[in-house]
Amino acid sequence: MSVTESDVLDTLDTITDPEFRRSVSSLGMVRGVSIDGANVEIGIDMIVGDHPGITDLQEAISNAVTALDPALVVTFDLGVMNEQQRAAVRESLVGDPTSTAGSQAGEGRAIPFSASTNRTRSLLIASGKGGVGKSSVTANLAIALADTGASVAVVDADVWGFSIPRMLGVDRAPTVVDDMIVPPSVHGVRCISMGFFAREDQPVIWRGPMLHKALEQFLTDVFWDNPDYLLVDLPPGTGDISLSLAQFLPRAEAYIVTTPNPAAQTVAQRSAFMFNQTEIDVKGVIENMAWFTGDDGKRYELFGAGGGADLAEKLGVDLIGQIPMQVALREGSDSGRPIVAEDPTAEASLVFAKMAEWVGNHAPTKRGHPELKLV
Ligand code: ADP
Repeated sequence: MSVTESDVLDTLDTITDPEFRRSVSSLGMVRGVSIDGANVEIGIDMIVGDHPGITDLQEAISNAVTALDPALVVTFDLGVMNEQQRAAVRESLVGDPTSTAGSQAGEGRAIPFSASTNRTRSLLIASGKGGVGKSSVTANLAIALADTGASVAVVDADVWGFSIPRMLGVDRAPTVVDDMIVPPSVHGVRCISMGFFAREDQPVIWRGPMLHKALEQFLTDVFWDNPDYLLVDLPPGTGDISLSLAQFLPRAEAYIVTTPNPAAQTVAQRSAFMFNQTEIDVKGVIENMAWFTGDDGKRYELFGAGGGADLAEKLGVDLIGQIPMQVALREGSDSGRPIVAEDPTAEASLVFAKMAEWVGNHAPTKRGHPELKLV
């Protein structure tokens, strides 16, 4: 069969840009297609000059076109959109910014996730203190949820200890299109972090109100595209940031990460009380560093045992998972190759998969509006 330009255009309709989350055709990226014998030249207008993942995108397009006829040779004529085209992309993704009342002043902007009609489940991942593995849990649970087929986003709100970009292996800043922030996507998870705007080796010395604003912007100006789950890695403890988020995301569910030693429970309990006071539902406890399985197959409870179960009982919620200590988990967090993505059958990865299943099976029954509470 001989492939026509319209066949190629139809094929381009099926190629989705992973970060802009629409087909290259509907984004207006396809400038034209011309066929001369076996040569197919495709004109592509990148949305920005350093369009994320453009090489992968070209490869995906080439593969799809040569699948029509393996004899075809695909070449690209790359260009960059002008301001007008970019504004059109923004408008097609999130609407016209000038039509949103108050958007210029940064006031009155609605946080989409707080609306009772919004489909996204916001999961606040919290801990009483630092170092218990809260960020590692957030990153790996996010990937495990994405592996169930869900669309997943992560907000790294651990503003003083931001580590999510490094853990997920994101090495580039978000793309900014006409004031809209498009989060980078890795392992099927989109993420935004203060880490993109501050260097890891520099202290973050923003005052509370600025952080509150920055978080609000993370929730309003980022192109999240209605994910199934929005995981929020909270700073440890019960500070202002957690309170801001409880206010921004009144329909959120909280999960408390703790270690198994009984002494850690008092401090973990405090963060649970904070959620109670802000009327956020604590849904479950996650025990991290539960044991270490030696080469002899025995479990060594290095940090004691029973802390997670005790805390869950005190709070009247489920202990949704016990994550073992694994060197590969630590290494994966340090090197940006999270264990769940790297080795899905590892002992810890299987626990994350189970927890993702648990979360999927326990959608909230409570609504954000008090008058609608089903309890
Ligand atoms: P937090 O966010 O609570 O401060 P992190 O997720 O940054 O904690 O974890 C602290 C350190 O412990 C990191 O180096 C991380 O890789 C490591 N870690 C966390 N959980 C585990 C685990 N289950 N096994 C091995 N190392 C872990």
